Amino acid sequence: MASITAIYTAQRSFFHSGATRSLSFRKAQLKKLKKVLKKYETAILEALYADLRKHPMEAFGSEVGLLYEEIDHTLANLRDWMRPQPVTSPLLQYPSASMVYREPKGLTLLIGPWNYPFQLVIAPLIASIAAGNCAILKPSELAPATAAVTEELIREAFDPAFVTVITGEGQAVIPAAMQHRFDHVFFTGSIPVGRKILEMAAPHLTPVTLELGGKSPCIVDKSADMKTSARRIIWGKCWNAGQTCIAPDYILVQEQVMEPLTVQLKAAIRRFFGEDPEKSPDYARIINEKRFDQLTAYLQQGRVIAGGQTNRAERYIAPTLLADVPLDAPIMQEEIFGPLLPLIPYKTIEDALQIIARNPNPLSLYLFSKSRRMEKTFITQVPFGGGCINNTLVHFTNEELPFGGVGQSGMGRYHGHAGFGEFSQVKSVMKTATWLDIPVKYPPYGNKLKIARMMMR
Ligand code: NAD
Repeated sequence: MASITAIYTAQRSFFHSGATRSLSFRKAQLKKLKKVLKKYETAILEALYADLRKHPMEAFGSEVGLLYEEIDHTLANLRDWMRPQPVTSPLLQYPSASMVYREPKGLTLLIGPWNYPFQLVIAPLIASIAAGNCAILKPSELAPATAAVTEELIREAFDPAFVTVITGEGQAVIPAAMQHRFDHVFFTGSIPVGRKILEMAAPHLTPVTLELGGKSPCIVDKSADMKTSARRIIWGKCWNAGQTCIAPDYILVQEQVMEPLTVQLKAAIRRFFGEDPEKSPDYARIINEKRFDQLTAYLQQGRVIAGGQTNRAERYIAPTLLADVPLDAPIMQEEIFGPLLPLIPYKTIEDALQIIARNPNPLSLYLFSKSRRMEKTFITQVPFGGGCINNTLVHFTNEELPFGGVGQSGMGRYHGHAGFGEFSQVKSVMKTATWLDIPVKYPPYGNKLKIARMMMR
């Protein structure tokens, strides 16, 4: 791997050459990316299996298929997105025309986590290329097989002066890279590291996108369809064994339906993974022993009503339902990020809102209800990044929905047009014709204030 300074200098000069700016260049690179993804598809799925024992169906759906869709959506719309956007101009500035240009930012640094180690560096790359930038990708060292295949396919597809991969431990590699001034840093990961990224960006005033985590609540009220809700919750919770930033973290269930919901949740676990989920080929493993130990400690913090089995050698934790969990237990204060699902009963909407407010600004919120009033209440009263009504996770899959967090769960948005916007610099220009030059604004002002007041009421 070339030194970061050498990579940085090469990319700076490539960007300055203007090569990345044209629509045709951007489209050609996106097509190249899709081609190399297709070529390496099996290798990517194998790497994800090696790192996380992700079933190819899950790996394809969340790490590769989504990227094909994102590329196609971008290719279909990029010409439109790049077109300068005319806006109206104030009468006072007549005869003027105003235009919003979206320009490439320059050099971008894309830092990924281990849980969707491929998709979460390549999806930002699609947006970065679409916006006409160069990029350095830093995949997580905790998913080494995926990091290796990412490096290989990027090397095959791109000139490193345009896009390249750096590897290694984040705490060594990122501070060294960020000594240089990037024009945008896109980070997906934990809140504490996100804070460090922001600090490292501050001296250069580098704009930053932070895609962080948090505790995403899942509310089930008495009007919900229990069977369908349970299936969709268990599916969302067990996808990648709960190691999903937008996984439902805990359930708030209206107390009178605690029992029927529990019955359906247990049935859904059995239906998806059989009597012994350890034997299911469809169920992923915990990334490493450290995370396994943190998660198993949570098991003591409630009453296990389903699951609870673990196998450290295999880094296996069964899909687990927990009841009687105190709100001040660590499991209700930290992002769980594993297949443990506390069920917290609530009486009134106000109670539910108060419990959510203990961990403010969730990345996602899921509501299972037939009540429009409940829908409105949760959408308007809880600051959260995004979410679903009567479903989990799927808002992430729609390129038309800007994805990101709020407050504790992050800042900035991407996917589709939002991603293009995030990686573009907005340049606003007003152009004034010279055939007329109304002198009101020029000194000497005399009694022009009166005219100004009349015009700017
Ligand atoms: P992490 O913050 O530990 O690591 C993320 C990246 O930062 C890695 O590439 C790592 O090498 C690097 N890094 C680690 N320490 C660093 C340091 N001191 N300085 C600079 N860089 C450093 O996160 P993780 O454990 O890989 O991922 C899990 C977290 O990510 C969870 O909190 C989860 O919710 C969040 N997440 C969020 C999203 C989202 O889209 N919002 C998606 C996936 C994961």
